Amino acid sequence: MEKRRLYMDYSATTPVKKEVLDEMMPYLTDYFGNASSFHLFGREAKTALDKSRKQVASLVNADPSEIYFTNGGSESDNWAIEGTAFARKNKGNHIITSKIEHHAILHTCEYLQKVHGFEVTYLDVDENGKVDLEQLKREIKDTTILVSIMYANNEIGTIQPIKEIAKIAHEHGALMHTDAVQAAGNIPVDVKDIDVDLMSMSSHKIYGPKGIGSLYMKKGVRIHNLIHGGAQEKRKRAGTENIPSIVGYGKAAEIAKENMEHHISELTRLREKLIEGVLEKIPHTILNGHRTDRLPGNTNFSFEFIEGEGILLLLDQVGIAGSSGSACTSGSLDPSHVLMAIGLTHEWAHGSLRLTVGDFTTEDDIDYILENLPKIIERLRGLSPLYQTYLKEQNK
Ligand SMILES: *Cc1c(COP(=O)(O)O)cnc(C)c1O
Repeated sequence: MEKRRLYMDYSATTPVKKEVLDEMMPYLTDYFGNASSFHLFGREAKTALDKSRKQVASLVNADPSEIYFTNGGSESDNWAIEGTAFARKNKGNHIITSKIEHHAILHTCEYLQKVHGFEVTYLDVDENGKVDLEQLKREIKDTTILVSIMYANNEIGTIQPIKEIAKIAHEHGALMHTDAVQAAGNIPVDVKDIDVDLMSMSSHKIYGPKGIGSLYMKKGVRIHNLIHGGAQEKRKRAGTENIPSIVGYGKAAEIAKENMEHHISELTRLREKLIEGVLEKIPHTILNGHRTDRLPGNTNFSFEFIEGEGILLLLDQVGIAGSSGSACTSGSLDPSHVLMAIGLTHEWAHGSLRLTVGDFTTEDDIDYILENLPKIIERLRGLSPLYQTYLKEQNK
């Protein structure tokens, strides 16, 4: 029997869809021109660039002129934060973000604090991962120049009330940025409705190629440039455009928009089956993140008494690819900052497992997981000194 290859890590990245690849291929071969060139080859590239910008804009109800291509979500996040900080430092030096942001936000804020003397407030979240709006209202002040809160969290899937947060930011004269890398393409996102000034998106989380993304910048908003050089992207983001990837990103955005309803209902159905199955079959287990305000494909569990690494290892042996917020996988001694922020103890955070459902996940895949995961957890608990201690306590 062929070994199963079951990808359940769609929040880390997604495969490029065939329709996306087909659209890209000619731009790696026949239509290789530089979009800034005057000749036919340049015009072909420019036409593709314009088309893709429309497709990306359409996904989030922006005007194409408000979409700037970058090399991905991290660059967009860096640009939004740094660009705003440097452009508005005469108005104030205070930035508000949250404790559960992606590192592309957190590390940029830390850099601005340490190197440039900015003051940063990191808002708390509740046990479901929702930002505390009352705390935001208390902390925001005259010198606050930017509020940056992620639309949906990449680890626990929690969706934030971005529209309300933007309203509070604007009432105090601050700009509003949201990292919508996990949201745009997965759930309906409308920049006019939520009224943000800046928004980050990435292609490889929505079945497009890696190394391409965009920053939405509302008309009239002025921030400093991050990449200096040529006149590309209205002189705001230099560098010869990566046309094949931009074409792929545009196609991926178009497909995401067309499939949105089906994508949400199908992923939510499979997610619920997985959540209910796991909670029913495996004792001493909790679901992390908000029960309903969560990304359609996200599940994140914590299993008491065991380590995420062990779970990943044994899942890998049966061909299931997941991820964990446990310490080793995060590359540091501490478990995920997101799981700590929602109030998990170290022990519970160490036993975390994220399985994300995507467009290629089937009912049969969920059955396969529900057949294998309980056995894996039981086996690991059998080896766990913590679990043995617990059993002894119970039998006293
Ligand atoms: C993946 C991700 C990023 C980084 O995007 P890249 O395109 O990989 O640089 C930023 N924010 C969130 C929420 C993400 O999930």
